[in-house]
Order: sequence, then C-alpha cells, then structure tokens
Amino acid sequence: MPELPEVESIKLQLQKYLVGHTIRSVEIRNTKYAIRDTDVVGEKIKDIRRFAKVLSIDLSNSYSIVVHLKLTGQLIYRGPNLKKVPNLSSKVVGGLPGKHTHIIFKLDHDGKFYYNDVRLFGWIRVIRTDEIEKTDFIGKLGPEPFKDLTLNKFKNIASKSSRSIKTLLMDQEKIGGVGNIYANDALWLARVHPGKLSRQLSDEEVRRLYDAIEEVLRQGLKYGGASELAYVTPDGREGNYQDHTLVYDQKGTPCKRCKSKIKKIKLSGRGTYFCPKCQN
Ligand SMILES: [Zn+2]
Repeated sequence: MPELPEVESIKLQLQKYLVGHTIRSVEIRNTKYAIRDTDVVGEKIKDIRRFAKVLSIDLSNSYSIVVHLKLTGQLIYRGPNLKKVPNLSSKVVGGLPGKHTHIIFKLDHDGKFYYNDVRLFGWIRVIRTDEIEKTDFIGKLGPEPFKDLTLNKFKNIASKSSRSIKTLLMDQEKIGGVGNIYANDALWLARVHPGKLSRQLSDEEVRRLYDAIEEVLRQGLKYGGASELAYVTPDGREGNYQDHTLVYDQKGTPCKRCKSKIKKIKLSGRGTYFCPKCQN
C-alpha cells in the first residue's frame, strides 16, 4: 500500500498538474464511486493536501474529493501541464483509459485525470472541506513524521504499548503514514528488533528509531516512492525506492552493516525483514 513517501510524491505532482484548473466534467464508469456532477463540475481545484496515506483535492465550493488509494488505486494525469509525457508504466494495467479506469475528470485546459483501481479496495468521496479532519479515517490518525510527531510524543506512544514496535509503527491511529516497507527499514537503521515490545525500548533506541523513521521516509521521497503492487506517480511512472531498500524484501542477502544473512519472519501477518545480528 502506498505509504507517506508514495502519497506525498503523488500529492506534489498533482499540485503541479491540477491546481488552478477547473473540472469541466466527470465520467463515472463504475457505480461503486458516488460522485455527483453537481458536487464537482464547474469547480476550481484550489489545493491538494495529504493526511497520512489519504489525499484531499480541495475545490472552490468548499468541498473536497478525498481519495484513499489502498492497495492498487492510481491517480494519473495526462494533459498540457505534463511537458514531456513519459511512457506509461506497465503497472497501469489495461492502459489509459482502460478497463480498470473507473473515473475520468476532464479539466478546463484539455487535461484529464484518471482514477484506476484493479482490486477496487480504494475509495473516493466528496466531503465538505471543513469536515475532513472530523471524519473517522482522518480524525483518528496518529501524529505524523515531519508534521506533529515529536520525539516526546513518540516516546510516550511507545512507552504505553505492549505490542511489538513494528506493529505499533504501522498502526495508523498511533502514527500516521508509516507502512510495512518503511517500518522494516527504519527498524534496521535504528538497530531495533521488529518484534521487541514497544514499552521495552530504551530511551536511546526510541531516539534512534525516531531519527531512522524520518531518514527512511526522506529516502523514500527522494526516490519518488517504492513501486510495489500498483504504485505509480501521476505522470504514469514508477518510483525507485524498491531498488534502495535497506532490509525490506532482502531475505537471504547480506546485511549492509554486518554481512549476516537477512531473515524474514511474519509479524502480525506482515512480511518482516531484519538482521539477526545487529537488530536484537
Ligand atoms: Zn547486520
């Protein structure tokens, strides 16, 4: 699932391509998505914001198109704001528009943006802009790295949990934006075993992990996100972080610090990668 760096990469591109343009029409190709013409057509796109893994496209009528891409949702732009149109990633299954294109927004400048989703777990809703932060899915989000997750808050959250630290990192109601890839890498960077109970982390480990979370997220952003499953940026390209992971998806390869073989276990049902020597 796209995590903070992936959704932030999408947000930054959408800001470039969409902001200032007016939605001329919307074509709904799948009735699962309840967007009424009257809510969005004729409205100008004022801003694109991100709340952890959720995007908000804010319109001039004080409503927002809120998008959660979940596993395989994609937002892709085609139009004159894309100076040089890159080749479409093969992760855009069926092409553009294709059989997995469910919504097409047409803009005033001959631009279009498409919502694709192969597995159909993602959702799009139109919500009053001033109510977004009161909704269940955003109102309940925990503090976010780079935003409101301070070291003290992080310490406090960890000290109150008896779950494994990796499971805690991925709990969106505790910390917003971190998913499996970056949780694995942050724990390796901080030299903390993913299965260690959160409240048993030393102050030093908490501090190292706090810094490590920001560092891996920064790397994720630098590489335009990790293209697992269906992740592409709105220009239709893949990110590259998957080629630069520290430990994620590296089972059997030598640890980048001590050369021990990276192990894979399951923790709360999720693939968990760690170095048995330097994370204990
Ligand atoms: Zn190691």
